[in-house]
Amino acid sequence: MSTTKKLVLVGNGMAGIRTIEHILKLAPHAYEITVFGAEPHPNYNRIMLSSVLAGGTSIEDIVINDWSWYEDNGIQVYPGDPIVRMDTKRKEVVSRNGVRATYDELIMATGSQAFILPLPGADKEGVIGFRDIKDCETMMAASQTYRKAAVIGGGLLGLEAARGLLNLGMDVTVIHINGHLMDRNLDLPAGLMLQRELEEQGMKFLLNKHTEEITGKHRVKAIRFTDQTVLETDLVVMAVGIRPQVELARQAGLDVSRGVIVDDYMNTSIPGISAVGECAEHRGIAYGLVAPLYEQGMVLAKRLAGAATEGYEGSVTSTKLKVSGVDVFSAGQFKDSADTRSIRIQDDVDGIYKKMVLKDGKLVGAVLFGDTTDGASLFSLIKSGENISGRERAILLGVPSDSGSGSGPSIAERMASMPDDEIVCGCNGVTKASIGDAVLNKGCNTLGAIKSCTKASASCGGCKPIVESLLVHYAGDAVGEQVKEGICGCTSYDRDEIVAQIKEMGLKTVKEVMNVLGWNEPEGCSKCRPSLNYYLGMIWPAEYEDERVSKFTNERYHANIQKDGTYSVIPRIYGGVTSPAELMKIAAVAEKYDVPMVKFTGGQRLDLLGVQKENLPKIWEELDMPSGFGYGKALRTVKTCVGNTFCRFGTQDSIEMGIRLEKKLDKMVAPAKVKLAVSGCPRNCAEATIKDLGVVAIDGAWELHVGGNGGVKVRAAELLCTVKTDAEVEEWTYAYLQYYRENARWNERTAAWIERVGLDHVKKALEDRDVRLALVERLELTLGRTVDPWKEIIENDKLRKNFTPLADAQPTTH
Ligand SMILES: Cc1cc2nc3c(=O)[nH]c(=O)nc-3n(C[C@H](O)[C@H](O)[C@H](O)COP(=O)(O)OP(=O)(O)OC[C@H]3O[C@@H](n4cnc5c(N)ncnc54)[C@H](O)[C@@H]3O)c2cc1C
Ligand code: SF4
Repeated sequence: MSTTKKLVLVGNGMAGIRTIEHILKLAPHAYEITVFGAEPHPNYNRIMLSSVLAGGTSIEDIVINDWSWYEDNGIQVYPGDPIVRMDTKRKEVVSRNGVRATYDELIMATGSQAFILPLPGADKEGVIGFRDIKDCETMMAASQTYRKAAVIGGGLLGLEAARGLLNLGMDVTVIHINGHLMDRNLDLPAGLMLQRELEEQGMKFLLNKHTEEITGKHRVKAIRFTDQTVLETDLVVMAVGIRPQVELARQAGLDVSRGVIVDDYMNTSIPGISAVGECAEHRGIAYGLVAPLYEQGMVLAKRLAGAATEGYEGSVTSTKLKVSGVDVFSAGQFKDSADTRSIRIQDDVDGIYKKMVLKDGKLVGAVLFGDTTDGASLFSLIKSGENISGRERAILLGVPSDSGSGSGPSIAERMASMPDDEIVCGCNGVTKASIGDAVLNKGCNTLGAIKSCTKASASCGGCKPIVESLLVHYAGDAVGEQVKEGICGCTSYDRDEIVAQIKEMGLKTVKEVMNVLGWNEPEGCSKCRPSLNYYLGMIWPAEYEDERVSKFTNERYHANIQKDGTYSVIPRIYGGVTSPAELMKIAAVAEKYDVPMVKFTGGQRLDLLGVQKENLPKIWEELDMPSGFGYGKALRTVKTCVGNTFCRFGTQDSIEMGIRLEKKLDKMVAPAKVKLAVSGCPRNCAEATIKDLGVVAIDGAWELHVGGNGGVKVRAAELLCTVKTDAEVEEWTYAYLQYYRENARWNERTAAWIERVGLDHVKKALEDRDVRLALVERLELTLGRTVDPWKEIIENDKLRKNFTPLADAQPTTH
């Protein structure tokens, strides 16, 4: 009988999974681990949602551990399936989908939820919080249709949401109940400077405003305040605080106050159940920042792994606003009180403000605006509790203590004098010594490599300048010159170098590339694994076997995962043309499998939404239609107008051309999704000029437009060429797409690629007919090898087993 204990984690978020990572390092075989997550995503970096909203990062980039990590570590994971009941006597949890899992140890890590003010109208459409990927997607979608946004709450989260919405092109007003912004982290002068800076960026503010009601019929139309003034708006984001998610714990009989009450070792009031993260309350505090939660996670992991550990004693926290162009840092007790003294400097010309709060000769708090370089060292002084009497002014001004003036120590001197145990990355608790170890002993000579090895600067990125300075400090001049960014933190090679090395050395598998090119993370990450998988398939079309585990969920299950954990099925409908028989078949399947919604997509296809994973192969089989690749980095649609078949303006047969292109390219995998359209005249009803490749008929000829995009960042396509015959349309289309396949970075849409390399470069590359024909030939070779993924799964029992119902897959099978 197995002696391995069962560990169940409720909450697939930052604190819980961090704890599991530590347990796996400390005692890899101690537990059979099962994770339940309410969200349908793998563990991701919630902090980075602000960057996703601001447009600097994609959702795929913020995944900390992709699905292959769970698989590789033998973890049974149930995404999109929250625990709804806990039976502490039988030591069993039950999920919404009916999965039951027993445990020896249970970790509650359910985090918090955004607090929605209980105002009349707060339940209207368009009123949301800012907590997860779904909220981010709602805001991004709203920005496509609506103009005006209001953010209630002028704290850190509210301002980051507001900046993101501004970037999405919305007119944004921040409403704050107090007289200055971020009043929980900043004093009045810093708050005012921040307001001025953000106003210059285009943000509007209503301060000292109390919201009374949200009005509108179904969707929000306006906010009414207690002074009876009104603000018209199409979207309301509430960023007024968070509430620990404790309902489940309360129902199970655990001691709960604001959070689940824990002792210094993260034990709750019931033996065998621990709590960690934002849902936990330790010595009266439920923390809302990752640094303390990670400290808690370390203590808990050590206890569960049977390693010696000191108890968790609480944390001093620091915050940094993640809004580009604004540097704000705050830590500890930043407000003056009867028993504190403070020193400050204010430079209104350069927009710099610095304040240190002192008590009994020790630094207890600090505020920095405009120049936050000293944030990490001030935070370290606060935490160490060191007596700094006599050195206060020097520390604040950044000058040596024996000098009354001067420019202060250089960055190099500051890095050299920084104590080894100083925490550089607050989000991940990484010290100067660990960064030194990564550079000196683990060969990390890039910021990316340090990030991947130590996690320093992997979260809010606020410590990036210091990590870079430390890299130079440790690596010295010679190595410093080689510092450059690789495709991800696992390597210093960029895309072109990797592709060249794969070709030159004949590398044939993802593992081989990682080994030969000296990856510093042996298993790679969610960024490099899928990109290597793509490059290998592109370079060796005849022999490379696609690596399923290197793909994202959507591509592994050949269906788009939805926010409730169900999937969507989009069969291919060539050129958007269907028939009564095909429609009847789709309708029959939708009825038989109780598909909750059948919807027309923007690409002239039908989407069956809300399908359970286990039904996917059966539905594909009964539809008997090819996959529409609606989930993949592949050809999505070829949209067509009716053209000269029916339209009196049409000069060419756009339907026939669209179907012909789609039939040829229907299994084409690419660096990113590709959308095509064909219009039968310059009226362009198929919107061909905002597609990756759009074909527009003109009198007696066709125009090919490339690099268009209709997504978050709209980009008009540029004219690649004008050709006379249908055969030339095909030749240029296939050659262009193959050139893109061979030269773009993985995950780079054609619009971004064209902007990076320039249209002239592409025109030049394709001007020689022999080159075009060779590209077409290579594309044909690839297409000839690609099989329809749905058909492959239907016909292969082993692949089909991956779709076994979750409830049938016992948590204890690993
Ligand atoms: C936009 C944004 C920006 C932020 N910026 C910063 C920052 O700059 N610095 C910083 O330190 N912190 C920041 N934070 C806060 C930080 O993200 C949180 O402190 C951290 O994520 C909390 O970790 P956690 O594991 O406790 O909770 P979470 O990461 O929220 O994870 C909890 C998970 O449990 C799931 N869950 C809940 N109930 C159940 C159930 N019954 N069954 C299964 N699963 C369940 C939830 O859906 C969630 O996925 C930010 C947060 C947001 C939203
Ligand atoms: S693009 Fe021209 S041919 Fe096509 S539907 Fe519109 S008007 Fe008719």
